Amino acid sequence: MPELPEMEAWRRGLAEPVSAFPIAKAGPAHIATLKTFDPPLASLEGRRFRGVERRGKRLLFPTDDGELVLLVHLMTAGRLKALAAGESGPKQPAFAIEFVGGSKLVLTENARKKRAGVWLLTPAAAEAEVAHLGPEAIDLDAAALAEILRSDSRRLHPLLRDQRAIAGIGRAWANEILHAARLSPYALSTDLEDDEVARLATAVHDELSRGLALREAGAGDDRTYRVHDKLGKPCHVCGTPIARVDFEEHTIYYCPECQTGGRVLKDRRMSRLLR
Ligand SMILES: [Zn+2]
Repeated sequence: MPELPEMEAWRRGLAEPVSAFPIAKAGPAHIATLKTFDPPLASLEGRRFRGVERRGKRLLFPTDDGELVLLVHLMTAGRLKALAAGESGPKQPAFAIEFVGGSKLVLTENARKKRAGVWLLTPAAAEAEVAHLGPEAIDLDAAALAEILRSDSRRLHPLLRDQRAIAGIGRAWANEILHAARLSPYALSTDLEDDEVARLATAVHDELSRGLALREAGAGDDRTYRVHDKLGKPCHVCGTPIARVDFEEHTIYYCPECQTGGRVLKDRRMSRLLR
């Protein structure tokens, strides 16, 4: 699942290729991928993108005349790629844009159920589409984070992933951040001491920055993540095997030594059934 570091690395990589030439042809688009029909996709043709912006996990491609914004949300399995003129790409992309001169932007989604989405919007509609998102995770300072944590008593892992509270973090980076902050994924946001809030703020910034630097250098998941999806592998700090627990519909990875005082967390779905 691409999160803030992955989307920001894509944004930086796509900015130049998508704005170099005017749009020659917008589409085709898979019926499940294109979420809007007015304005029609063809209204992009002849215009040029100004560049790429990012809000949380979404990318926005505004036209340089200020009239349209193409918004892309990749969800779990969507991937974006810029193809040079003549470079071969996927036979049936979920969405494609061809630029004058033959270069392309293609969206693929290697999943049976198409969940990634593309919206063509006016700037006002694009703004409304992202208005529910919380502040950008990578820009949060300790004071702003403290306010979010104290506004509602919630467990840290689901709170960090809530896009309305903080934009850009999903389950992988929530695992990495909580490990770096040495905090339990089940800790309640309102129970944190000031030094723990400060540690969490530092971890959010440092882990997302580490992820962005690695993704920009082309690193894959295995080299990028140190905790996420590392069940049984030694913790990079203390050597304890990384543990896993199911919480609601998500799987959480953590180090029992570094994060929970040696305690193994209980599966919340199971404990709810037994209660
Ligand atoms: Zn550890």
